[in-house]
Order: sequence, then structure tokens, then C-alpha cells
Amino acid sequence: MALYVHKYGGTSVGSVERIEHVADKVKSARDAGDDIVVVVSAMSGETNRLVDLAKGITDQPNPREMDVLLSTGEQVTIALLTMALQKRGCAARSYTGDQVRILTDSAHTKARIRHIDVDAMRNDLKAGRVLVVAGFQGVDELGNTTTLGRGGSDTTAVALAAALKADECRIYTDVDGVYTTDPRVVDRARRLDRITFEEMLEMASLGSKVLQIRSVEFAGKYNVPLRVLSSFEDGPGTLISLEEETKMEQPVISGIAFNRDEAKLTVLGVPDIPGVASRILGPVSAANIEVDMIVQNVAADNTTDFTFTVHRNDFDRVKQILTEVANDLGAREVRGDSAIGKVSIVGVGMRSHAGVASKMFDTLAAENINIQMISTSEIKVSVVIAEKYLELAVRALHSAFELDEPAESR
Ligand code: ADP
Ligand code: ASP
Ligand code: MG
Repeated sequence: MALYVHKYGGTSVGSVERIEHVADKVKSARDAGDDIVVVVSAMSGETNRLVDLAKGITDQPNPREMDVLLSTGEQVTIALLTMALQKRGCAARSYTGDQVRILTDSAHTKARIRHIDVDAMRNDLKAGRVLVVAGFQGVDELGNTTTLGRGGSDTTAVALAAALKADECRIYTDVDGVYTTDPRVVDRARRLDRITFEEMLEMASLGSKVLQIRSVEFAGKYNVPLRVLSSFEDGPGTLISLEEETKMEQPVISGIAFNRDEAKLTVLGVPDIPGVASRILGPVSAANIEVDMIVQNVAADNTTDFTFTVHRNDFDRVKQILTEVANDLGAREVRGDSAIGKVSIVGVGMRSHAGVASKMFDTLAAENINIQMISTSEIKVSVVIAEKYLELAVRALHSAFELDEPAESR
């Protein structure tokens, strides 16, 4: 007898009919003789609706109260799914994050899981019950409700699978696996049979929202077998694993990620003296704002242009901070651009191949797309370009790196 954790995302539980369908799937998995723990998200659109309700009251809702609000979405789904299972004669019980004791730190709206009590869950499983657990939520040591950041139900599922030493964590969603790029943007994207944790982590960090970043981190750290598959049709999905594929012709690039969540800021004409980077970025990090890409360039007149990117939500605040810093430093000007996009090519095959970055730049040049910033690591190359060219760039790179699904198999 095996133990599986299933996770069903928002679209998969988006209506009563879909919840009934999930109940059928869970019941047949249970009838096959395996122990099943199910993690569910809020019904699709619900978390956004709750965020909007809060925005209707204040621009800066108190984070503790935000968590009390946001956690209600998942509570609805666990109750409905459990009822649907019971209706089918399948013994089941629902649990909130607090009840199952998913203990987190107190960083409201982006809490991290510290510990999960598995004893009570094991008793339920022994008694033959399916456990239906609310994703995305936990409780801190003082008993406050916390949430794990958007998309956090993935992390709940992987954390439960790690704590229970499950045989596999299955993320059921509205696509039938992890693709070479978002299949909603490139219709010739291909489903991958497997991808390594390392590559999946890069893809998720660089904008592929199919899995929350932390869930991949967690799965890699605790070596949880993780699979992404469709809630609506049967199929093998994509296995996220430690080993690289052993095929002879390992592709150089496994996937292309992109995001529109960033904004770019530049301080122009900064005196080129030691300590400038720290004086510019110090106040930004003191405001708890994460910086992503950074480029600094010395001009002929011995001044520096200092450019970096932040999340778009932080753009206005950073611009304000920089205006003050620029004054203190005697810099010429602060410029900002939030209409940018970041495209990244990802693949462990890059380690053993030269010329990958230049092929990327050639491809973008052929489309007349100007590159504004570049950053690289061992297994990825990212560029910042104008947002309006983002989809064109992704499609062109997808073809250039031979990731397109052959026409005959579509
Ligand atoms: P859920 O509600 O089930 O958690 P999400 O919307 O969070 O689902 O994630 C699934 C979506 O991720 C897909 O509908 C797809 O548009 C998007 N996506 C982005 N990049 C990829 C990728 N490389 N492979 C598959 N899906 C991707
Ligand atoms: N409901 C939460 C969200 O929309 C968590 C999740 O779906 O994973 O972000
Ligand atoms: Mg998701």
C-alpha cells in the first residue's frame, strides 16, 4: 500500500461539478488500496476576489488580518470536497492548516513552514480515512493564522508529502504537465516527461507559475518525488527528479521562462567612487525590497549609470527612495520603466555547451528586439526587453532552440 499526496489547484475545484469530479478521482485512488492525503486550493478566482475586497477598504491592509481573510477560500473547498467524498461512501475528514498543525513562522502573507505534526494524520490514515487539508495556510506559535504566499498550496502539498514520507506528491492542475514554456502563450510548447529539480527551480524563480518556487525548493531538499499532471485527463504528466535525463540527445535548453512582474530603475550620472552601490541599494534593502538584476556601467566622464530591477509592486516606493538617494549622491537623474519583461532560457545542458548565450542574442537581434539587461548563471541566461516584445521573443527563442512540437504530432 502506497501513500500519495494529491493537490488540486483553483481551476480543478472551480465549481461544484469540478469538485465532484475531483471526489471521483480521489475515491478511485483510494479504492485502489492506497492512502490518500488531498490538499486543495480555493476555488478559482476566490483568492483574487478576497484581495479585491480588502483593497476596497484600504491600500495597506494589516497583514495579520489579510491572512485571516485569505485563508477562508481554502476552508470552503475542504468542506465541499469532504462532503462529496462522504456522499460517495468514502470516509474522509477536512482539516484547516491550524487543525493539522502546519506550524509556520509569523511572516504574514509569506510565512514559511517550520514543522508539521504527523501523528494525528497517521491516526486518521490508519482508520482508513482520506484527509482533506486546506492548502496555503498555517498557524504560528501564538495561534495566528498565516498564509504561504500566492500559489502556496503547492508548498503545503510538498511539505505534507515530505513529513509523511509519501511515495509521491501529485500536483493536479489545468495543464497535463510542465511544458517547455507556458502552453497558453506558445501553442507549439511541448510537455516534458521529466525535468530536474534544479531546472524546475530556475523555471519557477524566473516566472513559470506552474509550481510555487518554495514547493520546488522543498521537494529538492527533502527529495520528495514530485509529479505535475492534469486533473481533467489521464496521462503520465511530468516527473520532477534529481537525475538528468540519460537520453543520448539531451537538449541544451529545457525550457523558456518569462515574467512581466518586474520594473527597471536607473540612477544616472552617479560619481564613480567606492561605496556608491551600497549607498544606492542600502536604503532599498532596508525597506525590505528585493532587488533582482543589477547593471553598472562607467561612462567616459567618470560617472556611473546604475540600473536594477525590482518587483513592479515596489516600483513607486523604490523611485521615491532613489530620488532622495540621488540628491544625497549628487547624481544627475532617476529614471524608471515598468513596461519591461524578462525572458530566460534554462537548461543543465548549457554547462557543457558553448555559444548558448550568443545564439539567444542572435535570435533576438533577428527579430529587432533590443536587449536592455543581461544576467547569467550556470544553467540560465536572462534578458530584460520591452514588455511589448515579450511573447515574440519567447516564440522566436522556442523555435531557435528547437523546442517546438513537430507539426505532425500536434
Ligand atoms: P493551479 O491553480 O492548479 O495551481 P496554476 O495556474 O497555478 O494552476 O498553474 C498552472 C498554469 O501554469 C497553467 O495553466 C499554465 O498557463 C501556467 N504555466 C506557466 N508556465 C508553464 C510551463 N512551463 N508548463 C506548464 N504550465 C505553465
Ligand atoms: N489560493 C491561493 C492562491 O490563489 C493558493 C493557491 O492556489 O495555491 O494563491
Ligand atoms: Mg498554482
